[in-house]
Amino acid sequence: MNQFSYVNATTLKEATAALGSSWSDAAVLAGGTDILSLMKDYVVSPARLVNIKNIKELGGISKSGSGLRIGATVTFDELASNAMVRQMFPSLSQAVMGVTSPQIRNMGTVGGDLCQRPRCWYFRLGHGVLGQKDGKSLVAEGENKYHAIFPEGAAHFVSASSLGPALVALGARVKLVSAAGSREVDAGKFFVAPQSNLAREIALLPNEVLTEITIPAGGKNATYEVRQKDALDWPLATASVNLTMKGNTVSAASIVLGHVGPTPYHAAGAEKALIGKTITADLAMAVGDAAVQGAKPLSQNAYKIQLARVAVKRALLQAAGV
Ligand SMILES: Cc1cc2nc3c(=O)[nH]c(=O)nc-3n(C[C@H](O)[C@H](O)[C@H](O)COP(=O)(O)OP(=O)(O)OC[C@H]3O[C@@H](n4cnc5c(N)ncnc54)[C@H](O)[C@@H]3O)c2cc1C
Repeated sequence: MNQFSYVNATTLKEATAALGSSWSDAAVLAGGTDILSLMKDYVVSPARLVNIKNIKELGGISKSGSGLRIGATVTFDELASNAMVRQMFPSLSQAVMGVTSPQIRNMGTVGGDLCQRPRCWYFRLGHGVLGQKDGKSLVAEGENKYHAIFPEGAAHFVSASSLGPALVALGARVKLVSAAGSREVDAGKFFVAPQSNLAREIALLPNEVLTEITIPAGGKNATYEVRQKDALDWPLATASVNLTMKGNTVSAASIVLGHVGPTPYHAAGAEKALIGKTITADLAMAVGDAAVQGAKPLSQNAYKIQLARVAVKRALLQAAGV
């Protein structure tokens, strides 16, 4: 790890003042479960780390209108044990419970989950976010069993965030604050597919802190994850759904797949197949089929199509209580 200086910020003003105009100037330190391993492996080498865990206003979960506000430094454990989250947003509770190591759940934060870097091994070996060598993709012809089946341009990594798909499906918004002011971004627009090897995969700028997430009141919502094992791993495919019901029929739906693309993948075609209908096992399977239409698997990851299809079916049945 390269040498770095350390700022232990106790106010947001102090934190934003310590950030810089480029990623090499400074980085935010929250739980440290991702940034420290990236620094040890020389994937990133910020000159300064800005600890935000002691900034009171970045913590806490509270009511916001008919929805919730979740502070960026809320840990996975706090999120998982919050009664309001469990009652209003089971999809988020189910997503956070999937993050299976108690150590990670104790240290990792909600803001850090959204800002964590891809787990693509080519990225972690220093080949950039697109996994390239001499301008050519290492992913296409290489080991790609965990990569995207819905690539976006040259981006074949998958977004690592377990909370991302649930937050996108719920229509959450993310607040970003710099010394110059603040802005809010839809969770769906926070995740971006970079087309340059050095670009970031989120809409955050180097001088910004993600301070909070607000979630409007949800409908019937659920997340279903498929994992290879129950510990120390990321999901292979997930589906998060949020349904607005009129009696027994679906009047609006949001279906978002995770770990299948560089951003949470919005399955718009599948949503259309639900509107005006009553959810049954057969309909849920048909919607699962629609959700994976257009998938473009790589040489080793076609198996993810079936996992994603089943994840959609099970998330729908769970949300509808069928
Ligand atoms: C063994 C293992 C298993 C895991 N399994 C899963 C899993 O199943 N699902 C999953 O989603 N994740 C998983 N993770 C990843 C884990 O969730 C992340 O490492 C964690 O969420 C990062 O949060 P943190 O607070 O530790 O962030 P840090 O490591 O402190 O920071 C991570 C990145 O986000 C930036 N950052 C953090 N907070 C902010 C903020 N508020 N504003 C601006 N930038 C910020 C940092 O600068 C850094 O770039 C796993 C990790 C490990 C090691």
